[in-house]
Amino acid sequence: MDDPLDSATLQVLEASLRALETQLSSLLRSTESDAKPTPLKDNASRLSRMDEMHNQSILRANRTVTQNRLLEVRRAIVRIQSEQYGICQDCFNDITIPRLKAYPEATLCILCKDQREKP
Ligand SMILES: [Zn+2]
Repeated sequence: MDDPLDSATLQVLEASLRALETQLSSLLRSTESDAKPTPLKDNASRLSRMDEMHNQSILRANRTVTQNRLLEVRRAIVRIQSEQYGICQDCFNDITIPRLKAYPEATLCILCKDQREKP
């Protein structure tokens, strides 16, 4: 069976994964202090405190999404290094190159992804 991922394409995908890794980790670093619980100010009104808690919960949820994506990106880099990259984890078919270019951290082919997302 032919490997549809030639080394040039793989290099491009690895470069975008590494760029994503840098971007996501710096995003996490820059939001780190904002996600920490802030001491309650005596003079803060109840409303502004609730606002602040609400904003923090959104920020934490976003950070969780970013952390998970960063993990996926790092796993994808490991898969490139162990030459298991671009293979669907469910059906073991090749994930198409356009899909990998759009989501270099993808672990499923589009068919299996659709399948999983069905209710
Ligand atoms: Zn599949």
